[in-house]
Amino acid sequence: MERTVKGRNIAVVLAAGTGSRMKADVPKQFLLLGGKPLIYYALRTMEQSNLIDECILVTGEDDMERMRRDVVEKYGFRKVTTILPGGSERCFSVANAMRWIDAILQDRSERKDLVFIHDGVRPFVTEEILERTYLDALECGACVAAVPSKDTVKLADEEGFAKETPERKTVWCVQTPQVFDRSLIVKAYRSFEEACKERSEGSSDAGFGKEGRLVTDDASVVELFTDVKVKLTEGAYTNMKVTTPEDMAIASILFKDFF
Ligand code: C5P
Repeated sequence: MERTVKGRNIAVVLAAGTGSRMKADVPKQFLLLGGKPLIYYALRTMEQSNLIDECILVTGEDDMERMRRDVVEKYGFRKVTTILPGGSERCFSVANAMRWIDAILQDRSERKDLVFIHDGVRPFVTEEILERTYLDALECGACVAAVPSKDTVKLADEEGFAKETPERKTVWCVQTPQVFDRSLIVKAYRSFEEACKERSEGSSDAGFGKEGRLVTDDASVVELFTDVKVKLTEGAYTNMKVTTPEDMAIASILFKDFF
């Protein structure tokens, strides 16, 4: 796909989760799929895409050297320019990357750069999804890959009883990539971090609001801290997040069709 506007597009690939729901000895981004670490596949798609100029990889502080040696150097991912340490939650890992981007690109305020934030444990992201999200982010400033929910979804009360049932056709399951205008997402995360600090007297990793609320995707940060609307862009049911052991079994089956 030809790019219509020449900005600098940065992919932020997240791999700083501990993978506690996987119940494995190694963080899930290092689990093997088809003989290669899970994180390899998302990085390969970013490496091969004309839409991505540079990749920032966020990983656990203790895994940075291993990630550099056993993934980035071993497989020759030349677009990975930076490996950053993550935070205690996904949102704080992204916040670290946004601060880094702000520092390296602050003199580019006139340029139309995009930031593609992607869960490293979604190995089946495709070039087509990158293209669709790229086009929507250029047009709207903010979009997320998403698919209509196949299940009916219920909101629960604190005792575990159904409280509300949104009409199914309005419910979407949100995936990554989540793609934003660079200055928008940097500013949104800056506001998020300030809100967290206000709550916890200086520590920025305790969530915001009186309940210490954490956010689990980047679109939420834009929804909460800006007035820009986030477009839901067609993702794919195969663009799954590998979280639990059964996801790994499904990924092994899908793998045969994909690679
Ligand atoms: O835990 P969750 O399912 O939200 O993880 C989604 C992605 O965020 C994964 O790729 C994981 O490695 C990453 N993550 C992170 N830092 C954390 C927690 C999760 O980069 N503290």
